[in-house]
Amino acid sequence: MSSALVWFRRDLRLDDHAALHHALNKHATVHCAFVFDSTLLGERLISGHKQSRQVAFMLASLQALDATLRIHDASLIPCFGEPQAEIPRLARELAVSAVYANHDYEPAAIARDHQVSQALNAQGCGLRTFKDQVIFEYSEVMTQAATAFGVFTPYKNAWLKRLKAADLAPWDTQSNRHHLAKHAAAALPSLAQLGFAAHDPSELKIPTGAEGAQALFADFTARIEHYADRRDFPATKGPSYLSAHLRFGTLSIRQLVAFAHQTPGRGAQIWLSELIWRDFYQMILWHHPHVVKGAFKPAFDALVWDDAPDLFSAWCQGQTGYPLVDAAMRQLNQSGYMHNRLRMVTASFLTKDLGIDWRLGEAYFADQLIDFDLSANNGGWQWAASTGCDAQPWFRIFNPVTQSEKFDAAGKFIRRYVPELTRVPDKLIHAPWLMSADVQQALGIKLGRDYPLPVVDHAIARARTLARFGQLRSGTATETVT
Ligand code: FAD
Repeated sequence: MSSALVWFRRDLRLDDHAALHHALNKHATVHCAFVFDSTLLGERLISGHKQSRQVAFMLASLQALDATLRIHDASLIPCFGEPQAEIPRLARELAVSAVYANHDYEPAAIARDHQVSQALNAQGCGLRTFKDQVIFEYSEVMTQAATAFGVFTPYKNAWLKRLKAADLAPWDTQSNRHHLAKHAAAALPSLAQLGFAAHDPSELKIPTGAEGAQALFADFTARIEHYADRRDFPATKGPSYLSAHLRFGTLSIRQLVAFAHQTPGRGAQIWLSELIWRDFYQMILWHHPHVVKGAFKPAFDALVWDDAPDLFSAWCQGQTGYPLVDAAMRQLNQSGYMHNRLRMVTASFLTKDLGIDWRLGEAYFADQLIDFDLSANNGGWQWAASTGCDAQPWFRIFNPVTQSEKFDAAGKFIRRYVPELTRVPDKLIHAPWLMSADVQQALGIKLGRDYPLPVVDHAIARARTLARFGQLRSGTATETVT
């Protein structure tokens, strides 16, 4: 009887798992492995990020996956190094006839999988891959002219039109679990063994693993009807907080879409839209891999951004003097999560108020976010910088004060992360520099000492951005606008 190897990557669960389903169905013995990719982990270590919450989340979720496999007397085989070498080596040692994995749409992963496939073929073993992490992939949703969509709303409409019950059917991985190979369990490494600083999973603030994902999902299903009304207010428990789980595949996208699709009401409808955004950006990345380095619309590569390391550092540390921006950055730094509204506000602030290249912000988010996902992060940054897939023109510039007044009117979120401003009245908390010296004294706060004065004037910054983009349009973008 033949045996196979399932290579887990962004799909750290046993339920509703396409590759696992096919392997268990076809083979009498199925081994499971995960490669601690030395290149990917090395990049994080090189960037000096030894405190990676994302690696901590991944490791805790792998431990949960391994524990579930052990219930079936199986276990996860840990490998260390380059998958291009490790997967063919393991396949040889286990003498499997095929390796199974789920599709990954990132350009580096595509190149990696191609190399793994070639190496496996050379030793008489195949790599079989499946759609799993999205509902529609590659060119499954296209324009009538058979081109890839570049704007979300028509994509969403075509996506919804194409959706059938079969697209949401879960992959059965229960019936043949007895095919899982029995192994003498090898211990998974600790964070320290991987070169990272120890991190208590309870500090992650989100429950990890497939069980954690289901707990979060159950919590969200009970409040999905309020999603549309609450999702934009960062002080409120509005969104699902499932992004890290979707990133690591600790729960299935089919389960979420099926639930959203069958649930009546505006909350479920809007949430489904967000899940479609996720498919949209994966599709964009696959069709347009150049976005990893450059603008989706290449004309915008000619934009000349400011070289402003001090302003960038103020932004990273949440010290810009704009309370909502600072609260958001501190939320990111302290928790590895940032609310969607605030991702838009801080990304707009970096690119359009500070005039700093979106790629710097994108890289900072990539380092800090537990849910970091290349396609969504790149898409979000290019959207905010107006270099990407956005139906709106570049002169949409978020005002950080009005955003604050609208979405955190009582300053509740600001006070949570910027305690220096706790005593500032609601009316003044969005633009504290408007407080007179007398008011500051009465409140026991001195701006410039206890909390920064604004690092830029929004009105001036806005005008500079309009000029920066305007010059580009008229073909005269040769130097930074001053
Ligand atoms: P919910 O509101 O509950 O949404 C459910 C799910 O839909 C999310 O978990 C996510 O998988 C998906 N989703 C929602 N909005 C988007 C979107 N705009 N694009 C793609 N998918 C979406 N999301 C990431 O998962 N990883 C990132 O690295 C990332 N970086 C971003 C950077 C910027 C500048 C911006 C503006 C957005 C970014 N997003 C990213 C999208 C979005 O902010 C997060 O998915 C969301 O805040 C996660 O919280 P949630 O799970 O509670 O979301």
